[in-house]
Amino acid sequence: MVKTRMAPSPTGEFHIGSMRTLLYNYAFAKKNNGKFVLRIEDTDRERYVEGSVERMLDVIRYCGLDWDEGPEVGGPNAPYVQSQRLALYKNYALQLVEQDHAYYCFCTPERLEKMRADQRAQGVAATKYDRTCLSLSSEQVQQNLAGSMPYTIRLKVPKDEVITFTDLILGRVDYPSNDLDDQILLKSDGFPTYHLGVVVDDHLMGITHILRGSEWLASTPKHILLYRMLGWEMPATGHLPNLKEVGANKKMSKRFGDVSVTEFLRDGYLPEALLNFIMLLGWNPGTEKELYSVAEFIRDFTVAKIHSTDLVAFDRERLAWLNGYYIRSLADRELCTRLLAWAQKWQVQFGFDVDLRSEKAVGVIFIVKDRMRTLGDFMLLASYFFTEPQVDKLELAKYSGGNQAAILQAFYQLYTEVGQDAWVVNHLDEISHDFIQKNGLTPKEAFMTLRFAVSGQSATPPIFDVLGLLGKDTVLRRIKSAMT
Ligand code: GLU
Repeated sequence: MVKTRMAPSPTGEFHIGSMRTLLYNYAFAKKNNGKFVLRIEDTDRERYVEGSVERMLDVIRYCGLDWDEGPEVGGPNAPYVQSQRLALYKNYALQLVEQDHAYYCFCTPERLEKMRADQRAQGVAATKYDRTCLSLSSEQVQQNLAGSMPYTIRLKVPKDEVITFTDLILGRVDYPSNDLDDQILLKSDGFPTYHLGVVVDDHLMGITHILRGSEWLASTPKHILLYRMLGWEMPATGHLPNLKEVGANKKMSKRFGDVSVTEFLRDGYLPEALLNFIMLLGWNPGTEKELYSVAEFIRDFTVAKIHSTDLVAFDRERLAWLNGYYIRSLADRELCTRLLAWAQKWQVQFGFDVDLRSEKAVGVIFIVKDRMRTLGDFMLLASYFFTEPQVDKLELAKYSGGNQAAILQAFYQLYTEVGQDAWVVNHLDEISHDFIQKNGLTPKEAFMTLRFAVSGQSATPPIFDVLGLLGKDTVLRRIKSAMT
């Protein structure tokens, strides 16, 4: 049975790249009627960020995804949190020592630091452990252990070997073993390093396929050695292209740019749009189709169509376009419901009072949604329907060439005479056009002045839609206040 996994480390926010890893592994498992495992790799205690596991699980579920085995749901290989499995890793580390594939190292952090500094001073770019402790006699090792000397356990990398592997995406990759450091497997705090933890758990949890970011490619030869030494079969593994900003030619750094999934959701990207965008970061069906639901993605996903390039562009414009598309596709009432749920979930303040269940809100959504690229755009696009706009008088004068008082006065007069029943978009459109024609005004000066006076904005949906929705009383009140 196919079994894939996503093995995040709770060292910060959940990034777009991690969501891609999750989606691809999820789709691969589902497509092959397999299982998808979520495992928390929290062995780096120094980089551990409190609360990040909970936030990550919450975001994954918010996006409508789930896992067959893992935290909260359990499964046959529980626990799925590495810090709860420490004894296990230690046993395998000791087994490797016993079999002469690993060794105790008693070097202090200070000695190691000096060793690295010396190597750098000699021009060595990739410093390596100098194997001092490999020559300790077994008596010395026993003595040190008996004296409770702190130790790590290191992998004894075989010399003069080419380690070869066939990546699912990149094809054949060769690594000279002499380039590899004698990697620490077990740290002095008793925690495994990523390399030991990941190999032990992928094996014990029956993982058959691994898709992960290219930043892990350099770790793969160490894992290959561990699988061989432990007598286990390595899962089929593929490395996904790194992400870059559009126009850049190097990998996107986590420190720059805003690529946390939570941030995008909080800014008002719909999960379905965000997921659709992420699916295409390194995978393409080979057709024109670019709108994908998760179900369609599972149906069409194949590893063969993952790009084997180094980098794929993270095109924020395309994401915004896709999000706008998904927003426009929602029915007005549904979009109101989504706005409400979004504001509640992320504690978004609109800055004005709006009842998103009201007919008025549905009406406003109807006319502004074509302009929304994020849910957050609602605030800017709709505010003047719910709160009095600030009308900048200097800017107002610009649209009318200084003639705003007369124009507004004339509109005021015209609209005062319209009965409440006749206050409908078509009628307003008709009488207003007649009126400007008779008075020799251009549509631009007349309607821009009117638009700015009632909304405080220079760009709005069609002006008569706006007037219709605002209602007669509000329109008259705003025209009057803009005149004074
Ligand atoms: N814990 C690693 C991470 O944070 C997992 C890498 C892998 O998939 O092997 O992404």
